[in-house]
Amino acid sequence: MHRLLMHNPIAIATLWILAYVVICLFPLLVALLYPAPAGRSFWVEFSVALGFIGLAMMVLQFVLTARVNRIEASFGIDILIQFHRFSSLAAFAMVVVHPIILFIHEPTTLDLLNFLQAPLRAQLATIATLAFLVMVVTTIWRRPLNIPYEPWRLLHTLLAVLAVGLGFGHAMLVGNYLSLFWQAVLWSGLVLVALWLIVYVRLVKPWMMTKRPYFVEEVVVQRGDVHTLALRPYGHDGFTFKPGQFAWLTLGVNPVHMREHPFSMSSCADQSDRIEFGIKALGDFTRRIKDVKPGTKAYLDGPYGVFTTESYWDSAGFVLIAGGIGITPILSMITTAITRQDDRPFLLIYAIKTWGDATYREELEAMKSQLDLTIVYVLREGHEGWGGETGYVDKDLLDRYIPLHRGSRHYFICAAPVMMDAVETALLDLEVPVTNVHMEHFNLA
Ligand SMILES: Cc1cc2nc3c(=O)[nH]c(=O)nc-3n(C[C@H](O)[C@H](O)[C@H](O)COP(=O)(O)OP(=O)(O)OC[C@H]3O[C@@H](n4cnc5c(N)ncnc54)[C@H](O)[C@@H]3O)c2cc1C
Repeated sequence: MHRLLMHNPIAIATLWILAYVVICLFPLLVALLYPAPAGRSFWVEFSVALGFIGLAMMVLQFVLTARVNRIEASFGIDILIQFHRFSSLAAFAMVVVHPIILFIHEPTTLDLLNFLQAPLRAQLATIATLAFLVMVVTTIWRRPLNIPYEPWRLLHTLLAVLAVGLGFGHAMLVGNYLSLFWQAVLWSGLVLVALWLIVYVRLVKPWMMTKRPYFVEEVVVQRGDVHTLALRPYGHDGFTFKPGQFAWLTLGVNPVHMREHPFSMSSCADQSDRIEFGIKALGDFTRRIKDVKPGTKAYLDGPYGVFTTESYWDSAGFVLIAGGIGITPILSMITTAITRQDDRPFLLIYAIKTWGDATYREELEAMKSQLDLTIVYVLREGHEGWGGETGYVDKDLLDRYIPLHRGSRHYFICAAPVMMDAVETALLDLEVPVTNVHMEHFNLA
C-alpha cells in the first residue's frame, strides 16, 4: 500500500488535498467534540464557523508558500501560487463575512467597531482584518501601486504574521470554543507550525544554504540581452535536477537577506559541477548580471518545479514551444536529452522578435547533429531574405508542424503569458489532450 502511494503522483496529490480540507475543517471537528454554548442561534454558530475556517486557511497559507519540496513536487509552483491566491481571497471573504453576520443578527455587536471603547478581543480582530485587507490590496494591485517586488514580499510576510497572530489572539480571547484546554492546545499547535515555517524559511533554510555556497565561474554574453551565468559548487557536489526545473538564486549577499530570484537551469541536468542560467536583463537584478565578477559568491535553493520532460519517459517524443527567454528550461531539456542519448524526436518551435534576438541559436543549431531535433524559428519581424516563419505561433502554424497523432507527444510551453495562453488554446483546439500540455510561468507575482 505504502509503495503504491509512493509511486502514484495522483494518489499523493489527492492525499495532500484531503489533508488540506481536513485541516481547514479541523476547528469545526474539534468544536463538535464539545457541546456548543447554550442558547446561541444558527447564524451566530455559522458566523463563528466561518471565522474558524478562515483562520485555519490563513494558517495554511504559510505551508503553501514555504516551498515544501514534497508538496511542490505534487502540484508545481504555478498551481500552488494560484491556489494560494484563490484560497487567500476565500479566507478573506470568510473573515469579513464572519462579523457582518453578527452585526446583522445582533446589531448591538456593532459597538465593537468603536475601536477605542471596544474590548481587546474586538481590537485584535479589527487590526487583523485591516492587516489582511492591506495584504490583499497590495498584492492584487502591486504593479499599479508601483510597489517593487522585494519590499512587497517583506510587507506581505509581516502582514501575514500580524493577521494570523492577532486573529488567533482574538479567537483565544473570545474563548467560547477555545476555553477548553485541549482545544487551545490543538489550535496553538497549528499556529506554532505556521510560525515554525516562517522561522525555517527565513532563518534555518538560509543558514543551511550558507553551508553549500557556489562561485560564479563566468558570465557569458548571449544574443537577445541575455547573459549565461555559470556557477560552480564550492566544497560540496552541487545538485542534479530534472531538465526544465528552476532554482532560487542569491548572488553576492547572505541568503538570510532573502534577495533571491527564480531562474530555470539552462544546462544539462546531469552535470552538477557546473550549473548554468540564461538571464535576460529585464529589471534591477537581472540588469546587473552583466557586471557580476567571476568569484562572486552565490547560493541556490532548489531544484523546484514539475515542468520537466523527465516525468514522461513513455512519450513518443516532445514538442517544445519557447518564446524569448522561455528558451532556458527548454535548452536544458535538449542538452540533457543529448547527454542521455535520447533517440526520440524533438520539435522546437522558437518564437523571437528578430533573428538577431534568437538566444542560444548557434548552440541549438549545433545540437541538431546530436539529436533528432527539428527547429522552427518564428520571427515577429522577418528580415529581407528570411524564408522561414513569421508572425505568431498560432493554430495554423502549429497544425503544420505538430505530429498527426497529437496525443503521442508531450508539449512544453514557456513564453510570455499572452503567448502561452494563445498556444495552449490552439493546442487544445487541435485536439492535443490537456494532460499532455505543460507550461512554465516566469511571472509568479
Ligand atoms: C519559475 C521561474 C523561472 C524563471 N526562469 C528565468 C530564466 O531562466 N531566465 C530569466 O531571465 N528569467 C527567469 N525568470 C524570471 C526572473 O525571475 C525575473 O525576471 C527576475 O526575478 C526579475 O527580477 P528583476 O529585479 O531583474 O526585475 P524587476 O523589475 O524587479 O521585476 C520584474 C518582475 O519579476 C518578478 N520578480 C522580481 N523579483 C522577483 C523575485 N525575487 N522572485 C520572484 N519574482 C520576482 C516580479 O513579477 C516583478 O514584477 C523565471 C521566473 C520564474 C518564476
